[in-house]
Amino acid sequence: MSDVVSRFMEYTKIHTESDYYGLEGTPSAKREFDLANRLVEELKKMGIENAHVDEKCYVYASVPASRGCEDLPAVGLIAHMDTTPDMTGKNVKPQILHYKGGDLTLNPEKNIVMEAARFPELQKFVGQDLVCSDGTTLLGADDKAGVAMIMQGIEELLQENIPHCAIRIGFTPDEEIGRGASNFDVEGFHADFAYTLDGGAITDFEYETFNAAMAKVTVNGFSIHPGTAKDKMKNAILIAMEFNSFLPPMETPGATEGYEGFYHVQEISGKAEKAEMVYIIRDHDMARFKERKATMTKAAEKINRNYGAGTIEIDMNDQYYNMYEILKDHMEIVHLAEEAMKKSGIEHPTHSPIRGGTDGCMLTYKGLLCPNLPAAGYNAHGRYEYAPVEELKTGVKIVKNVVSAKLVKEVYVK
Ligand SMILES: [Zn+2]
Repeated sequence: MSDVVSRFMEYTKIHTESDYYGLEGTPSAKREFDLANRLVEELKKMGIENAHVDEKCYVYASVPASRGCEDLPAVGLIAHMDTTPDMTGKNVKPQILHYKGGDLTLNPEKNIVMEAARFPELQKFVGQDLVCSDGTTLLGADDKAGVAMIMQGIEELLQENIPHCAIRIGFTPDEEIGRGASNFDVEGFHADFAYTLDGGAITDFEYETFNAAMAKVTVNGFSIHPGTAKDKMKNAILIAMEFNSFLPPMETPGATEGYEGFYHVQEISGKAEKAEMVYIIRDHDMARFKERKATMTKAAEKINRNYGAGTIEIDMNDQYYNMYEILKDHMEIVHLAEEAMKKSGIEHPTHSPIRGGTDGCMLTYKGLLCPNLPAAGYNAHGRYEYAPVEELKTGVKIVKNVVSAKLVKEVYVK
């Protein structure tokens, strides 16, 4: 039987970077199949014969409920196999480093050092072992730690004959480029609800996300030679700036945290004749989210009153919604996660609002309610990414507990 740490380290060595500019469909990179195929093989070795990967690189497997537990809900466990294209995930060389405190040298030859001053949460792990990369690549704990926890947890559960509810396993490609949930077969999955394992610190879980919209703002100006422009020119660049000035200056990503929402202009381009801006709008609260969108529309109307109809066009579309809007009527799913964490030795599980979306929030709106469990990764998407060994082990316990018949009965069946 393998252990979660070596399993995780083996997975990190498989290059599964997704690709913004890759293949048209899913997966965005063929290499994502390398891990998918391996997971199917391993699941089959555990005796899960139905394990398979589909043509879009989604891995599915299901384990029937233990005898006498058929009435319990079927619980899904989901993690993503790809790593972010923002930092290379090729030739990852994982290593276990014992952290004694102070700065942690990842790579003596290249002098790559994780500085304690820059990463204060390292303090929590003095005296512990950390899985790190060699500092030249990311590690891929996001989300291979989640994958490893599920694989290890299921293997142990089956070997130890722990009574459990029906289990559905799903591993997805392309999460990091925002397509992880798009082709997920919710109907075929046959789970009553599920959890993604894609969070951070092992003590924290998540069931609130942003409500999100994107707005493309087009400014139609009028260009004419500057020398003869009096009372004629409508400079789209200046009008774009004026439009932005109607938005509250302190409600930007750089000035907000926690439950505070924002407007974020993420692109601007243009000339006097025409300018374009792309905004994202985010808020956890549905009423405030709607107000924010109304503010955008009002700003455009004001510009159009001043400069003429059609000067500004807004194309605004909702992207995803806060999963809590739906979960709040099914809080037993959240409680089951919380109790599983407590049973795994985490005295006080915390939950913080996600300032973004997850695959789980897309799945929730597709009908598969899906909070996010921790995956023990820190400093994701960069060379300083690491996963504490103890947290990886706790993650395996959480997996086993969250599907154990005993706990599911206790929490879920009223
Ligand atoms: Zn992730």
